[in-house]
Amino acid sequence: MTRFIFITGGVVSSLGKGLASASLGALLQARGYTVRLRKLDPYINVDPGTMSPYQHGEVYVTDDGAETDLDLGHYERFTGVPARQTDSVTTGRIYGDIIAAERRGDYLGGTVQVIPHVTDAIKNFVLADTEGHDFVLCEIGGTVGDIEGQPFLEAIRQLRNDLGAERTVYVHLTLLPYIPSAGELKTKPTQHSVKELRSIGIQPDILLCRCDRPIPEGERRKMALFCNVRQDAVIQALDVKSIYEVPLRYHQEGFDDVVLRAFGIKDAKQPDLTKWQDIVQRVMQPEGTVNIAIVGKYTGLKDAYKSLHEALVHGGIANRVMPELTWLDAEIFESEDPIHRLEGVDGILVPGGFGERGTEGKIAAARLARERNIPYFGICLGMQMAVIEAARNLAGIEGAGSSEFNNYKVAVVGMMTEWQRGTQVERRERGGNLGGTMRLGEYPCDLLPGTKVRSIYGTDRINERHRHRYEININYQKKLEDAGLLFSGMSPDRLLPEIVEIPDHPWFVGVQFHPELKSKPFAPHPLFASFVEAAVKQSRLV
Ligand code: GLN
Repeated sequence: MTRFIFITGGVVSSLGKGLASASLGALLQARGYTVRLRKLDPYINVDPGTMSPYQHGEVYVTDDGAETDLDLGHYERFTGVPARQTDSVTTGRIYGDIIAAERRGDYLGGTVQVIPHVTDAIKNFVLADTEGHDFVLCEIGGTVGDIEGQPFLEAIRQLRNDLGAERTVYVHLTLLPYIPSAGELKTKPTQHSVKELRSIGIQPDILLCRCDRPIPEGERRKMALFCNVRQDAVIQALDVKSIYEVPLRYHQEGFDDVVLRAFGIKDAKQPDLTKWQDIVQRVMQPEGTVNIAIVGKYTGLKDAYKSLHEALVHGGIANRVMPELTWLDAEIFESEDPIHRLEGVDGILVPGGFGERGTEGKIAAARLARERNIPYFGICLGMQMAVIEAARNLAGIEGAGSSEFNNYKVAVVGMMTEWQRGTQVERRERGGNLGGTMRLGEYPCDLLPGTKVRSIYGTDRINERHRHRYEININYQKKLEDAGLLFSGMSPDRLLPEIVEIPDHPWFVGVQFHPELKSKPFAPHPLFASFVEAAVKQSRLV
């Protein structure tokens, strides 16, 4: 029997519902249950794929090629369960399907309405593809009270009647702000948020209360009374230093016990949290630090590189060090020699990105890393920049560039209009739709014998996740390899260069895919572990 946990948010946004859901998922898993986590986003975009990273943060890509909310990244990092297309939905997707069905005549002349048609579609999404899982955790995006969230709340309200109270639990995440002049944590915003929920027929079972100091007994009692929950179902969620502490803290506060009790489960075994204790110990007590510069574009907003940031932390966990990250806007290196800011760093990472702005700065950073033997990790656009740099300055291909940009003469990086994926031929066209038209999701890659990446991964064949339109042009392989840039990872048909490396450099690797999406704190991605290890070696040199 699959049970459903619905997580809503109140008072303000950005309280960390995604992390709360992921942490609860991890705790249930630690007790031996199987979990799935999914996100329902009330905005009208069909998916976040076309949204600016500044608006929405990173776009998280699943194995099966869905472009999703970054919270799915938290879910995967905390539980190790690969997210799927069926784990992410938006109002735009729901309405898109309903309108297409209406045009086909599927509603047989009926009037199509929010209730029941939209709410039914939402319920179908919640219930689909859940077989074999003990718990499905559904996070509702936005804050209770948002107009666009109403159909979602109505749908989860109906699900309690459809499935029964023993299969549904509602968790409400709120904020208790501290008011210095009163010297108190205030419960009124939580009371109002719960009142709003109850007015639409949802009585939360558990309140998860974000706060910056412990909640006094009196405030707990007050919330229990006014919000109609048991006092021990008021769970304190204190601010923590590392997100990886959250599962341990929640367990201390009794969150998972209260969830299980709400379902009437009495015989659950105690969770095994040793792996989380080890992670926290490594994160909180590193044996050293390394300086890594990230030369990117969306450096003003950390969420734009969420998985990347976490993957570097995981690389640190693997090496018992804490990477200290300096986020640099690549554009500065278009007017300033990168040497001044990058000479002393232990590693340079150029992440993925879109558009021409700042690309010459990234190329300058790649050049410095190559010439000065500083470990370099190029991801997606960062690989393309390293290849253009090598084409220009090692292979002497003048005007080498990417056809994504305006200022190129020779498209060393260009648009592939067609390629194989299994038995299917996929097409990408210039001037086509922007949404969902990239090489997306998991693709296999062969690692060539004797290469650095072959020894880093310890296997011949890997599967990694992609999100890009342009590819390294295979026609330049010979020229580039003769000049010292080795194509060490290739698509199985040998047409798509997936990894490049410089054999006589301490650590210079570019990858066309996004390895950061698959890294976990308890299973650091081999490339990040190896890159941070190289940075540790570099830090001992300088
Ligand atoms: N803009 C490049 C492309 O589309 C790189 C994309 C990326 O870095 N994710 O190919």
